Amino acid sequence: MTFDDIQARESRHVLQTYRRQPVAFVRGNGTRLYDVDGREYLDLVSGIGVTSLGHAHPGLAAVIAEQASALLHTSNLYYHPFQAEAAARLSQLSGMPRAFFCNSGTEAVEACLKFARRYWYTKGTPRPGFVAVSNGFSGRTFGALSTTSDEHYRTPFEPLLGPVTWVDFEKPEMLATAVTDKTAAIIAEPIQGEGGIRPMPRAFAQAITEASRRTGALYIADEVQSGLGRTGHAFHFQPLNLQPDLVSVGKALGAGVPVGAALVSERVAAAISPGDHGSTYGGNLLACRAAAFFLQQLMENGLIDHVKEVGAQFERMLRALALRHPAIVEVRGAGLMWGLQLATDATPIVDGARQRGLLVNRTHEKVVRMLPPLTIDTADLQRATDLLDEVFASVATEVHA
Ligand code: PLP
Repeated sequence: MTFDDIQARESRHVLQTYRRQPVAFVRGNGTRLYDVDGREYLDLVSGIGVTSLGHAHPGLAAVIAEQASALLHTSNLYYHPFQAEAAARLSQLSGMPRAFFCNSGTEAVEACLKFARRYWYTKGTPRPGFVAVSNGFSGRTFGALSTTSDEHYRTPFEPLLGPVTWVDFEKPEMLATAVTDKTAAIIAEPIQGEGGIRPMPRAFAQAITEASRRTGALYIADEVQSGLGRTGHAFHFQPLNLQPDLVSVGKALGAGVPVGAALVSERVAAAISPGDHGSTYGGNLLACRAAAFFLQQLMENGLIDHVKEVGAQFERMLRALALRHPAIVEVRGAGLMWGLQLATDATPIVDGARQRGLLVNRTHEKVVRMLPPLTIDTADLQRATDLLDEVFASVATEVHA
């Protein structure tokens, strides 16, 4: 089947909710993807931070195949061995004692929002409100959409969950009035992903801690994009000295198999009863086997230290790139989560990179985002930087021609 066949069939039968790039992939290997014509691409997107161990990881492929031929799914009516294994590892990494498994990032946020309200309901002082951050992204289901700031995503679907009060990373003092004794929880990404790779300022993190102490409001760390080794830390709330009661995870957790989780503190867990929340698929054998394999690689194979090391090298490469190209206004991120803030739309850079066999992604219009597999090495990062160097040079030439 050719690319044109695939595109033509999709345009007839698939609901048009995505603006896809003109390429169809059929195979991968580590940091490389191959399209229908056999062309190779260096992948710095990794399915938006999902294929954390790279493509077609042999160890992951083996456990998935083994699980598929043993047992895939039984539902949460019954026990199986792998939920507890994945949950124990998540607990060891995060310090949060319990996990609830679901199938995506948005469901992980949804669970956190519900558990926050349940906590206050159980205490006998129901609190409806949430405080969320400008440029934040929590997902597309109604609850998570309510704490997602982009008006284009929100407006056609209103009314959403309320009340939600909005604050800015750059104005931590806003938390002093926004967070009250009606606030169930503050939700914030330690590094905003979709919003353009914007790290939470330390002063904002301190203001969350202060507001929580003052009002009792819970803190939900949305680590769907920034968590699980991505920034060179198990979770990015850790270097910010934050103490969440709820943490949402997804993306990297299944290394390509859809799975998400809400990680829950002891006091919130104590407020939850059987029947409060659930999911047919959530935490099935396949998903938890994949998650347990990924977490084992993360914890026992030195992957977090690897991210720290190659991430620091990548940062130096990107900062040098920015010095050569005035189109790059700012370099933001940590570990292997980076954004290049441009003065203009990032589309020509993303297109130019793809034409040269490099995949990067545009977010928040003017940001070139990079979320490579956590396993990527220095040579691939250097190659990616060299290709970006070419792309920026050629786009600048076109602009000035
Ligand atoms: N939360 C954050 C911080 C995200 O970056 C995303 C997705 O990009 C989500 C939640 C939603 O995750 P999903 O697309 O798996 O539903």
